[in-house]
Amino acid sequence: MSDCIFCKIVQGEIPCKKVYEDDEVLAFDDIHPMAPVHVVIIPKSHISTLMDIDNKKIKIINNLIAAVQKVAVIKKIDASGFRTVINCNAEGGQVVFHLHVHVLGGRKLHDELG
Ligand code: 5GP
Ligand code: ZN
Repeated sequence: MSDCIFCKIVQGEIPCKKVYEDDEVLAFDDIHPMAPVHVVIIPKSHISTLMDIDNKKIKIINNLIAAVQKVAVIKKIDASGFRTVINCNAEGGQVVFHLHVHVLGGRKLHDELG
């Protein structure tokens, strides 16, 4: 997707502070962190929202969750704890329409959903 900012990050056209990468996913620090640790994990292939996941694409979710665990260890929040968030569509607060998982941690997270 030529006009997608996360595809541009995958392609190296927009810089990022990379946290973790493998063949399937890329994880980088959020540009506007909401917590001491705030990482965004994306599939390298473009998919717009969580609603575009079907049985054929479910492997993308496996890959994202595996990366969540790796990021938690890299950021040393695996034992202390963290929150994962996937925003979907307008009322879910999705701004970037390339599926992503937020990983938030490094402080006690209160009821900040919504
Ligand atoms: P959403 O609201 O779509 O779930 O979250 C999009 C997230 O992407 C936001 O937290 C925003 O700060 C982050 N973001 C948007 N543009 C960029 C960018 O160019 N670089 C980085 N590192 N994060 C971005
Ligand atoms: Zn994209």
